[in-house]
Amino acid sequence: STGLMNPLRLLLLGAPGAGKGTQTARLLTKFPQLNSVSSGDLLRQQIQKKTPLGSLAASYIFEGKLLPDEVVTRLITTHLQEAGWLSPKATWLLDGFPRTLEQGKMLRTALSKYDTGLTLVVELDVPESVILERIENRYVHIPSGRVYNLQYKPPKVPGIDDITGEPLSKRSDDTAEVFKKRLDEYHRTVGPLKDFYAKRGLLKAVSGDTSDVITPKLFKLIDKYSSGH
Ligand code: ATP
Repeated sequence: STGLMNPLRLLLLGAPGAGKGTQTARLLTKFPQLNSVSSGDLLRQQIQKKTPLGSLAASYIFEGKLLPDEVVTRLITTHLQEAGWLSPKATWLLDGFPRTLEQGKMLRTALSKYDTGLTLVVELDVPESVILERIENRYVHIPSGRVYNLQYKPPKVPGIDDITGEPLSKRSDDTAEVFKKRLDEYHRTVGPLKDFYAKRGLLKAVSGDTSDVITPKLFKLIDKYSSGH
C-alpha cells in the first residue's frame, strides 16, 4: 500500500554517507503525505544565505564536529513549529537530528508538550567500506537537499540540479579527512541515543550494501508499522 494508516514520525539514523538523504527522497515519493526535515540541509542553507547561524555552522561542519545540542535543537523545533508539525496527528521524518542522547532528550521534552513524539527510529546499517567511496563522488543541491552521485546517480547536466537548473555544490566536509572525523563523531555519539530509543521499543535497523537493497526493506518496515504493527 502507499498509504499510512497511523501517523508516522520517523527518525532515520545512520553513519555519514549511509544514504539517509537518498532514502528520505524515496520515502517522500512513496508516501506523499510524509514531510521531512534534515538538520544538515537546514544548516547548509543557512551557510549559503550567509546568516549568523550559517557562519557558526560552517566552522563546525568544516571540522567534522557536531554543533552544540541547544543550537541544533532550537533550529529543528522552530522548523517543526513553523511547519505546523507539532501535533499528535502530524506525519514527518527527521534526518540527521537527534544525533546525540542530549538532543534526543530535548526533542522528547519539546514534543511531549504538544502530546506528540517519535513513533519509529530506523538505523540504516551500511558497511564502512561502501560509504567511504560514496562521499567523494557526492554533489548536493543545497536549497532542496537533493543528492547526486557521479557514479550511481549523475545529474543530467554535469554540475546542474535536474529539477531547478541551479548549480550543485560539493560539500566542504565531503573530503576523506573530514569524513573520517564525522564517522568517529557518529560512532562516539550514536550508542547512547540508540539505547534511549531501544528502551522505548522504537528502534529498528535495516542493513544492506546499497541503497537499492535498503529501500524495499525500509518500505516494508514502514508499511508494517503504519498498518498497526
Ligand atoms: P550524510 O553524509 O549522510 O549527509 P552526515 O550526518 O555526515 O550524513 P549531515 O547530517 O548533513 O551529514 O551533517 C553535516 C554536519 O552538520 C555535521 O557533521 C555537523 O557538523 C552538522 N550537524 C548536522 N546535524 C547535526 C546535529 N543534529 N547536531 C549537531 N551537528 C549537526
